[in-house]
Amino acid sequence: MTADHLIRHLEVLLLASARLAVWLAVFAAIFAPLERLFPLARQRILRKEFGVDLGYYFINGLVPGLILGPPISVVVLLTHHFIPGGVLGAIAAWPVWLKACATMLVGETAYYWAHRISHHVPFLWRFHAVHHSAEKLDFLVNARAHPVDMVWSRMVMLTPIYALGLANPMHFGDGAIATGILLTGSMWGYFIHSNVGWRLGPPRSDSSPRPARARPSRSPTIGPSAAMAVRTLK
Ligand SMILES: [Zn+2]
Repeated sequence: MTADHLIRHLEVLLLASARLAVWLAVFAAIFAPLERLFPLARQRILRKEFGVDLGYYFINGLVPGLILGPPISVVVLLTHHFIPGGVLGAIAAWPVWLKACATMLVGETAYYWAHRISHHVPFLWRFHAVHHSAEKLDFLVNARAHPVDMVWSRMVMLTPIYALGLANPMHFGDGAIATGILLTGSMWGYFIHSNVGWRLGPPRSDSSPRPARARPSRSPTIGPSAAMAVRTLK
């Protein structure tokens, strides 16, 4: 690798890190005041292990994107052989809003099973347990995950979306629908981990507002959405 290549890679990495820092500032500006005004548990904002989760936030923001491309491409190529061409053609003709709905449905279903399996297979649980290891919860715990766990769940979630042609892994869309779903999905992921004492839905429901409270029991719940996939809607 030449020095030029190295500098270019470093530039890409720095730019991606800067983008993550901006998003973190946005999420902190939304959730830190909410956690202060409507706390579920009394705790300091800079709680113990806040720095650890900050590290997870940046590592998990960068690593899956760097290594997921090749394995997903191979699996998508293989699975294409098993999907009738007529189905792929019909999906390709769908309007973007329908693709967005289908992406959410397929992504959430696939993520649910990836998450559930990671609670039941000891090898996967060893990595997934990191996510459930937080002693105190706040919005940043959303980012706490072992990179292996992150790669596993994203791989399972994104593969059917790309295989069905709902989104194109090579093209980053920036339409209003894609942006809206990306933002909503990300916000939901941070909200369900936050230290905000709002209850959504009927009292005693385990699905809201904070599925991550499943710790330390090993019962899985639906988690973040397929938000990152819709960035690539055709
Ligand atoms: Zn879990």
